[in-house]
Amino acid sequence: MTHTPIPEAPTDFARLPLSPATLANLSQLGYTAMTPIQAASLPVALLGKDLIAQAKTGSGKTAAFALALLANLNPRRFAVQTLVLCPTRELADQVAQEVRRLARAEDNVKTVTLCGGVPLRMQTASLEHGAHIVVGTPGRLMDHLQRGTLDLAALNTLVLDEADRMLDMGFLDDITAVVKQCPKDRQTLLFSATYPEGIDQIARQFMREPQRIEVAAPVTESTIEQRFYEVTRANRLGTVALILNHFRPVSTIAFCNTKQQCRELVSLLQAQGFSALALYGELEQRERDQVLAQFANRSCSVLVATDVASRGLDIAQLQAVVNVDISPDAEVHVHRIGRTGRAGESGLALSLASLDEMGFVGRIEQYQQREVVWHPLDELTPTGTGRLLPPMVTLQMLGGRKEKIRAGDVLGALTGEAGFTREQVGKIHVTDFCTFVAVDRAIGREAMDRLNAGKVKGKSVKVRLVG
Ligand code: ADP
Ligand code: MG
Repeated sequence: MTHTPIPEAPTDFARLPLSPATLANLSQLGYTAMTPIQAASLPVALLGKDLIAQAKTGSGKTAAFALALLANLNPRRFAVQTLVLCPTRELADQVAQEVRRLARAEDNVKTVTLCGGVPLRMQTASLEHGAHIVVGTPGRLMDHLQRGTLDLAALNTLVLDEADRMLDMGFLDDITAVVKQCPKDRQTLLFSATYPEGIDQIARQFMREPQRIEVAAPVTESTIEQRFYEVTRANRLGTVALILNHFRPVSTIAFCNTKQQCRELVSLLQAQGFSALALYGELEQRERDQVLAQFANRSCSVLVATDVASRGLDIAQLQAVVNVDISPDAEVHVHRIGRTGRAGESGLALSLASLDEMGFVGRIEQYQQREVVWHPLDELTPTGTGRLLPPMVTLQMLGGRKEKIRAGDVLGALTGEAGFTREQVGKIHVTDFCTFVAVDRAIGREAMDRLNAGKVKGKSVKVRLVG
């Protein structure tokens, strides 16, 4: 296996052997230059070579494999040609969305997600309608392979995304079983944020002379301001509220070490009038989808999460990360704070430590090779006027991809008949069975009423305000 140090690779997509339509689509998407992991891995992947690529969350790994798998794809051949394995349904949904965006340049590329929580027979029906690309979780893919409802004979590209996370979750056996059903003659691409031992084992078993590419995490100092506050058990959760009222960030993730802590913090914040939602492992799928949609579209100010639940999620525009508890693992701490200050924007990382966590703080200092900076709690005075409210609210409309609803249909209904402007409408997130629409907080109720009174795609719809 060769190990390439990160080259000063040229970052212009036009240097890659991509079709003019794909290049035009990339520029429409605002992808003006390759990210470092894309610049390092795409030239290799587009030659058809196996690849192990390691770079932190948010570095653009999805497009790095999506452009490669699309290059291998023949849309006129109606068979599954690509399989992408992901650890969770959220990640599979995110990958499928990005693949669909990047595939727009080609006609009629069909991407299907196969994850738990949706009846098998509905997925089987989608497969019967023809799929070029399948994105799924190992367990559910196994189910389909065992039932013979998924045929991989025409597969040419296999992607293992978030491989470290899949190993963490104990998916090695399922992965092995799925890979064994893939044709031997194929390209295998493995993407990961970290490089635990198990990855070498996967590489030896399933890959052909993979090239290994690693993009080191950029130095955090320049864009992320870290402040530490000493707290006690009694004032820890209240301090989070003080932080929010002082810095007034539009979007914050507050990390807790336990589900219990998440729950307590969310109740305290909600009681004080903040818009806060919890994300932890045992939530039902539907609740998780809704929480993530509300946070990503800026209608919820604070996402209170455990590390496991938030791993890998692509959430842009995060002004602040609060470490409600210090992680015992310094690497996890650095991952947490790396979620703010992305793409050259500045970010704030605020960490609360009690005396019994000072050992963990020591580990972080060692890991970062510098001392942390302590700030006094009394600097946290309220600023601005009134309650910290998110700029948007979310409307939930029944009906989604299964009803062939597309974002443009909803935008059209709001800006057409209902009379709102494009600027008053935020993100529109279409899931299989429902659609989440963000609109300006000021027009929330009115937008709901007008949608309920009018039609989307010629049909009347049911819309409710979910916060
Ligand atoms: P990762 O898988 O490494 O965590 P993602 O693939 O989810 O990261 O990408 C993070 C975000 O960056 C996504 O919103 C994606 O659309 C965006 N992105 C990816 N590549 C580019 C690019 N070349 N230019 C601009 N934005 C990009
Ligand atoms: Mg990813």
